[in-house]
Amino acid sequence: MSGDALSQDPAELRRRIDTTKAHPARVYDVFLGGKDNYPVDRAAAAAALAANPRGYLDVRHNRDFMRRAVTTLAAEDGIRQFLDIGTGLPTADNVHQIAQRIAPGTRVVYVDNDPVVLAHARALLTSGPEGRTDYIDADLMSPAQILEQAAKTLDFDQPIALCLVAILHFVEDEEAYPIVRELVDALPSGSRLVLSHLTEDLNPENIRAVQRTYTERGFTFVLRAKAEVERFFAESSLELAEPGVVPAHHWRFDGDAPIPEQPDAGYLDTLDDIEKVRYRDINDVTDADINVYAAVGTKG
Ligand code: SAH
Repeated sequence: MSGDALSQDPAELRRRIDTTKAHPARVYDVFLGGKDNYPVDRAAAAAALAANPRGYLDVRHNRDFMRRAVTTLAAEDGIRQFLDIGTGLPTADNVHQIAQRIAPGTRVVYVDNDPVVLAHARALLTSGPEGRTDYIDADLMSPAQILEQAAKTLDFDQPIALCLVAILHFVEDEEAYPIVRELVDALPSGSRLVLSHLTEDLNPENIRAVQRTYTERGFTFVLRAKAEVERFFAESSLELAEPGVVPAHHWRFDGDAPIPEQPDAGYLDTLDDIEKVRYRDINDVTDADINVYAAVGTKG
């Protein structure tokens, strides 16, 4: 484990945390039943749920796609290094826990630009003795900085799985495509890109209603069509793994998601749609619920 992320000045960190404005990592945390969020984030989550009452399923299935992708890469493909950009707040199963259960020597570098995620980074730096984890406080907009710092932990001569899971919808085209290319260019042959992305292809009315609630709050919220998601892979000549770019719940679904504990966060009482964020069986999903594409590609 690396200590850089932990040597933060707590006063400086507190100054960076804006509790007057909703933040993506914290809104996402509300949907996962976490406790690291503020009233503005809960209000944003409640507005999104009012717009799309089963929208929590996008989050649960996105997160479960990540579990299945990391499991597949670690168990079947022998990938031992992960670079997870847009980590989010720590939850029950983070990339290093999933991968190190299969291969304890796995190295994972986490990257996020949210100071609240940084404040909780300690929970991400719990690697077993054989493996290693690090946390980088950086922005996806600075790929060179990410690559330079990641090289302290990851061996760029061995395959690396770059995870961009539910982050690229916060980035406009002019930056998103060149940044992904720059990151993938730095990876050796045999590396993977694990990607998920919000789309309006599947249930346009629902997701456009959600989009409005986010853009009203000042978020960039870019929905991409299937061809635009495929372009991230095509531009770097990545070969899509089966089954290609598909709705998240169709990507090698195994019905094996752990059912998280019922969140006991008191804030749930303040949400109008409290029942909707309570966890249910992940199999309770239809194609009309999901607005997330998911895919994995391999660098030749
Ligand atoms: N990848 C996780 C969390 C997704 S939430 C999952 O799929 O479960 C999106 C995360 O991306 C948040 O934690 C947010 O803080 C982070 N994020 C958004 N824009 C970012 C940027 N420009 N640079 C780094 N992180 C960013």
